Amino acid sequence: MEIPTPLQTNGRLLLGPGPSDASPQVLRAMSSPLLGHLDPEFMQIMARVQAMLREAFRTSNPVTFPVSATGMAGMECCIVNLLEPGDRVVVFTLGFFGNRMVEVAGRTGAQVTVVEGPWGKEFSLEQIGEAIKKVRPKVVALVHAETSTGVLQGNMKEIGALCRDAGALLLVDAVTSLACVRLEVDAWGIDAVYSCSQKGLGCSPGLSPVSFSPRAVEVIKTRKTKVQSWYFDMTTVMSYWGQDRAYHHTGPISMVYGIHEGLRLVLEEGLENRWARHELNHRALRAGLECMGLEFTADRSCQLPQLNAVRVPAGVDDLAGRKYLLEKFGIEIGGGLGDFKGKVWRLGLMGQNSRPSVVLLALAALEQALTKQGVKLTPGGAVGAANAVYSQS
Ligand SMILES: *Cc1c(COP(=O)(O)O)cnc(C)c1O
Repeated sequence: MEIPTPLQTNGRLLLGPGPSDASPQVLRAMSSPLLGHLDPEFMQIMARVQAMLREAFRTSNPVTFPVSATGMAGMECCIVNLLEPGDRVVVFTLGFFGNRMVEVAGRTGAQVTVVEGPWGKEFSLEQIGEAIKKVRPKVVALVHAETSTGVLQGNMKEIGALCRDAGALLLVDAVTSLACVRLEVDAWGIDAVYSCSQKGLGCSPGLSPVSFSPRAVEVIKTRKTKVQSWYFDMTTVMSYWGQDRAYHHTGPISMVYGIHEGLRLVLEEGLENRWARHELNHRALRAGLECMGLEFTADRSCQLPQLNAVRVPAGVDDLAGRKYLLEKFGIEIGGGLGDFKGKVWRLGLMGQNSRPSVVLLALAALEQALTKQGVKLTPGGAVGAANAVYSQS
């Protein structure tokens, strides 16, 4: 073969459901020279990552660390550790990622009860309480921020209380919510939670922060059967991320450097400030999208700020629209998943991409892409609508 030239890319503006752009500081941290994964200096970095993760998750759980793989690995890790064959689990699903939890839970040999809700809505407390009462599960699983529809599941504190009362563990997918919207692991009574590095944290994909409550750790320690997965078996992974720091697998050094910087930036900004920033830029984007007649797939009352899913307008081609944005502007947005394939565009404003310059550029580019496909729009209308939101804030 001909040897390729050295890799070179200018990247894109990543406005899909993830990855979002990594902060320049994160990329710089990742290019630091390697340390051995059992080096005392690296262990200090690990300890700081764990401490910062606890802050970001709002938890004091000792068992809090990033799993060495993407968000799906966090999902798998939580599910295979909590469930044994025959255990009862209820999965509440409102979209593609809830369905993924059903898929993964089904492989453990647990008895999975699936409660499906309509895409674009959240579950009511009544729906959740009823199912818990009926099934009396060991584990209740749900997605906090459903990235396929842009829905935020509210009432998390009340859901946590329902689980406590029923003696069930609460397992939450926070892949898209961490560092974008309020997430209170301890105050909400969440027993197991997983996220990712490449969405709200603004890092490269490859790590999945997880946290287990002392109740969950007790359940894992008293399992009757071995965890089906060797790599994700918490009883042994914890010897690396826990007190012993004993070899389990080689820590992904550069990824850990990256999340160290990503978390540092989150805490430097402050969680509350970060949540407010995501909300404001969402409001501006929404004003612009609605000005162009685009309809959100989620009810307004449960709309996520960091993920905006809108229906592709009638007469507009999904792929051609996305291709136009990519080729003319270097902007990536997401297409629909599952039931929404070909019908929905997903615009993410996550981490550093949640800022006015990005919102205004995205709206101007989208206006051009839609106009090219024959949609009649007022020139500059969307940008004006967004600016009106900013000028009031
Ligand atoms: C992105 C996402 C995942 C999967 O994470 P990967 O990093 O792609 O493995 C899981 N759940 C939700 C809600 C997501 O948005």
